[in-house]
Amino acid sequence: MDRTSDCGSEGCRFDSCRAHMNLSTPIGQLPRIGPIYQRKLKRLGVKTVKDLFFHFPHRYEDFSNIIPVSNVKLNETCCIQGKILEIENTRTWRKKMSLTHVVVGDKTGAIKVIWYNQPYLIKTLKKGDSICLTGKMVLGKRDAYLNNPSYEKLGSLEDLTHTGRIVPVYPETEGLSSRWLRFILKPLLIHLKSKIKDPLPKEIIKKHKLLDIQKAIWQVHFPDSLNLAKKAQERFSFEGLFDISLFTLKARMIMASKKAPSIPIDLELVQRFVKSLSFKLTDAQKKSSWRILKDIEKPRPMNRLLEGDVGSGKTVVATMAALNVIKGGYQAAFMAPTEILAKQHFKTLADLVKDFKLDLGLLTGKEDKFVSKKLKNDVIEISRKKLLEKTEEGKINLLIGTHALIQDKVKFANLGLVILDEQHRFGVKQRAKLSKKTKQAIPHLLSMTATPIPRTLALTIYGDLDLSLINELPKGRKKVITKVVSLKDRQKSYGFIKKQVKKGKQIFVICPRIEKGEKKDKKGDILGWAEAKAVKEEHKKLSESIFPHLKVGMLHGKMPLKEKERMMKDFKNKKVDILVSTSVVEVGIDIPNATVMMIEGAERFGLAQLHQFRGRVGRSKYQSYCFIFTDSSAKKTTQRMKALIDCENGFELAERDLKIRGPGDFSGTRQWGMPDLIMDSLKDIFLVEKTKEAARETLELDPQLKKYPLLREKIEEFGERIYLE
Ligand code: ADP
Ligand code: MG
Repeated sequence: MDRTSDCGSEGCRFDSCRAHMNLSTPIGQLPRIGPIYQRKLKRLGVKTVKDLFFHFPHRYEDFSNIIPVSNVKLNETCCIQGKILEIENTRTWRKKMSLTHVVVGDKTGAIKVIWYNQPYLIKTLKKGDSICLTGKMVLGKRDAYLNNPSYEKLGSLEDLTHTGRIVPVYPETEGLSSRWLRFILKPLLIHLKSKIKDPLPKEIIKKHKLLDIQKAIWQVHFPDSLNLAKKAQERFSFEGLFDISLFTLKARMIMASKKAPSIPIDLELVQRFVKSLSFKLTDAQKKSSWRILKDIEKPRPMNRLLEGDVGSGKTVVATMAALNVIKGGYQAAFMAPTEILAKQHFKTLADLVKDFKLDLGLLTGKEDKFVSKKLKNDVIEISRKKLLEKTEEGKINLLIGTHALIQDKVKFANLGLVILDEQHRFGVKQRAKLSKKTKQAIPHLLSMTATPIPRTLALTIYGDLDLSLINELPKGRKKVITKVVSLKDRQKSYGFIKKQVKKGKQIFVICPRIEKGEKKDKKGDILGWAEAKAVKEEHKKLSESIFPHLKVGMLHGKMPLKEKERMMKDFKNKKVDILVSTSVVEVGIDIPNATVMMIEGAERFGLAQLHQFRGRVGRSKYQSYCFIFTDSSAKKTTQRMKALIDCENGFELAERDLKIRGPGDFSGTRQWGMPDLIMDSLKDIFLVEKTKEAARETLELDPQLKKYPLLREKIEEFGERIYLE
C-alpha cells in the first residue's frame, strides 16, 4: 500500500486514513499505536489488524443493566447514566494523592463519584456532560460514593464501549489495559470487519448453526448478550478444531497415498535381538514393538508416535525396529533433540546392536569430527565429508544425530526408517528430502515422546499419527518418593542430601533460571520476576556454605558444549556429587546412581516437565526421592503439586494437568498458533468428535479443498509450522 499519497477519500491523512487500511495492515501504521504499544502488542503475538481481531477477550463483565441513580445500593456494582453536575480536583494533604470529586445526577437523584490519581480527567469530563459509569458504591468517612468507576462520555450517540453493556475483558499484559484495547479495537472492527472472509464452508455453518465470521468477530468482542458471546466463542472453537482435524486428516490421506518400502519382519533376527538384551522386555514394550514391525511391513509409510514415560524403555523398541529395517536392506536415521543426547544415544545404540555387525555414524551440528563405529572395532573418527559420502553410498546403516540430520547435504541411499526422539514430526517433504531416491518411496517414521498426551489432545493435535503406548515401567523400579518441602524443612533436606552423598549417591538440583536479574520469558521478552532461584547463585551457595566439603557442579544451556559434556561426564563418573542445573537435564540423560532430585521454584515448571525431572532419578534399584520447593501458595500450584505426588504414571498426570491448566501449555499445542479460547476447547470431547466428523465429510467431497481456497491456505500454513519445514 502506498502510504505517501492521498487516497482521494474525504479527509485522508495517510496513516490514519481508514481507506488505507486492511486486515494485514501492520499495527505500527495504525493511529494511536506508538512504538511502546507496538512492542506490548507484539509480545501478545499481535502484529497486524487481523491479529488484533483474533486477540480474544478471556471473559466478560455484564454492565448492560443501567439503573436509576436512586436504585444504587451500597457495596454493589452498578451501571448508571446521568449528567455531570459538579467536578473538581483536590489533593489529600497527607498522602499527596489526587482526587477527582464529581457529582452525577439523573432524573431520580444524584450521587458522588471519586477517582484517584487521574487529575487529567478534568480535561475530558466537563460540567453538563452526559456520562455512563460502572463501578461499586462504597462507604467513605463521611458519605457513600461510587469508587473509581469505568466511565464513558455519551457525547456522540455512538454505542457504548466500556460501560452500559457487556464489556470484554482481555488477558492483560503489563500496561495494556482492556480499556485501551477496546478503544483501539472498536473503530477498527466497525470499519474493517466486512473485509473478513469466512473460511468455513457455508454448508458447515448452516448444518452446525454457527455464527458467520463477521457476526462472530463482532460478538466475541462486543456482544449484545452473554448468549451471543458464547455463540461467537463456539464458532471460533469449532473452526479451530475443524482446521486441526482437517489438517491431520489430510496429512493421513497424503501419507496413505505414498509408497514406503515394505520390509518383512525377520522373526529369527528379532528373537536373537531380544535374547541379546540383559533384561526381559515388558509386555508394553513387546506390544508396541510388534505394532511397529507390522507397520513397517506395509508398503505405506508408517506414521507412529510411541509414547512412554521417562525410563519406560522406548530406545530398545526403536532399536529393534531399526535393526529389522537395516537387515531388510535399508538404512535408518535417529534424530535426538540435543548434541549431548545424540552422543548418548550413539553409545547406547552401538552397545545394543554390538552383536549384529552394523555401521553406525554420528552427525551433530557444530563439530566437524564424526564418528563411525564398525562392529566390534573401536570408534573411528572420520571427517564430516566422508561420513556424508558413506551415508549417501548406503554404507552407514544407522545415522544418529541432531537436527543436523535434516540439512540438505545429508542424503541417504535407501532410507527405510526415521526415528525422532522427543516428538518432532516430519511431513512427506521432509522425509523425501532425506532420501536420495525420493521418487520411489518415503521412509517410515517413528517418533517418540516421554510427555504423555491426554486422549482428547491425541485425537486432535496428533490425529495424523498412530499411537503406541508403553504404559508400564520395567519391573523392579521403586516408586520415587515425592515431597513438597516447606521453608522450615529446607535445612533438614540438606542434611538428608549429605547422608545420601555419604552413601555414594548423587543429587540433582534444578533451578528455573541461569542467573539472577535475567527476566526473560519464553519469547525472550523482559518480564518482571527476578526472585526465582538461579543456577549460578544456587551453585555458589551450595558449594561455599551448605556443602563446602562436597563436589558441586553446575550445568546450564549457556555453557559451551565442551564444558557441558565434561560436566555430564564428571557427574556420570561420580566426580561430582551434586549437579545444579537448569532444565537442560530434562530430557533423556541417564544417571542411574542419582537418587535425589531437588526442584527449586517448582511453580515455574509445567507438570510434565516436573515429572520429567523426577524421571531422572529412580532409574536403578535404589530408593529415590524428589523434593519440591515452591514459594507460591496459589491454588493452581497446590493442585499441581498434589497431582505430582499422587500420580507416578505420566498418563494419569497428563489428564490431571489438562484439567488443572487447560491444554494451552501442553507440548505440541503451541505450535498450532491458536488463541487460548480454541486450545481450551480441545478438552471438549464432543466438540472434538463433531469437528472431526465435519472435517471428514468436507474432505470426502473435496479432497483437494478446491472449493475452499482459504481453508487450503490455512492447512498449508499449519504444515509449515508443524513439520518445521
Ligand atoms: P526412555 O523411554 O526414557 O527413552 P530408555 O530407553 O532410555 O527409556 O530406558 C531406560 C533404561 O531402562 C535404560 O537403561 C534401558 O536399558 C533400561 N530398560 C529398558 N527396557 C527395560 C526392561 N524391559 N527391563 C529393564 N530395564 C530396561
Ligand atoms: Mg529416551
